[in-house]
Amino acid sequence: MKEKEKCKIVQDLFPNFIENLTNDETNKFIEEHLESCKDCKKVYENMKKDLNVDNKTKEKKKVKFLKKYRNKLRVLEIIILIIFIVFVINTGRKIYIIKDLNNKAEEYTSSTNYHRVIYTIDKGNYTKTEIFSLDDKKKIVSTTMSSDGKKKVVIMYGRKIETVPDTQYVKTNPPIENYKQNIYIETETEKTARLNLDASVSVAPQGAFWGLDNIGQLIVCAITTSINKTTFDGEECYYVTGSTNILSNSTMYVNKDTGLVISVMASEFKDADGNILRIPGAEYRFEFGTVTEDDFIEPDISEYEIVE
Ligand SMILES: [Zn+2]
Repeated sequence: MKEKEKCKIVQDLFPNFIENLTNDETNKFIEEHLESCKDCKKVYENMKKDLNVDNKTKEKKKVKFLKKYRNKLRVLEIIILIIFIVFVINTGRKIYIIKDLNNKAEEYTSSTNYHRVIYTIDKGNYTKTEIFSLDDKKKIVSTTMSSDGKKKVVIMYGRKIETVPDTQYVKTNPPIENYKQNIYIETETEKTARLNLDASVSVAPQGAFWGLDNIGQLIVCAITTSINKTTFDGEECYYVTGSTNILSNSTMYVNKDTGLVISVMASEFKDADGNILRIPGAEYRFEFGTVTEDDFIEPDISEYEIVE
């Protein structure tokens, strides 16, 4: 083989030789040639340098990419952390509001002297219900204007016999109370009365978040409920949507100072059997400590036809 041809072959082998990809026999052949050929040695040194530089930049690029990737992960982690912190703070805020409103409401829902007014409109019928409560006495005045313009007034005078206690499984709010009562009914054409009836009523002022017994229920309620400050009828309120207690979904306005519901939107929900139940919208107004014995003076019974 001529020297020139040998050089050509050796130089062709350099890239593999530098990467250690050639076998021992070839290595020996190349090394021997390098010792004797200055030209090839020079080419070899240069090529080795170039390849090294090339590898280094490749390595650098790889590191750069990994760094960038890691930074992106870092940013993602921080975003997730921020979302989590906001979620925890917001849930904590709602738990605080719910507990605060519950405490405030308790003062009023346990009141023995209150005047409560409920306005409802359902299927075109407008009803105003006034409840006067003084210790064990109650008067409920219910005035209905039907969609065809007919007016009916029902006045109930009652004396409480007992409060039906909650059971472990059934909690009611307002509590159910059993009454002995006289009922006076006035329409445009007749006045009738029914005396000494047994009846249950459930009309006491209502706290928005009643029935939350433990921290678990409180947390679930806080997570599933949105609570925002607003005003309603000039009163400072919370606008509340979601599952406000363990039994129902509602949208309502809750007075900030009393924790009492002052307005509930009409809503529909499915009961356990899949029937759609409809709750009409209602507004509530309260006065405390204004009811007197005079509110319980019954009308002249001789003006009424007594019905058995
Ligand atoms: Zn050579």
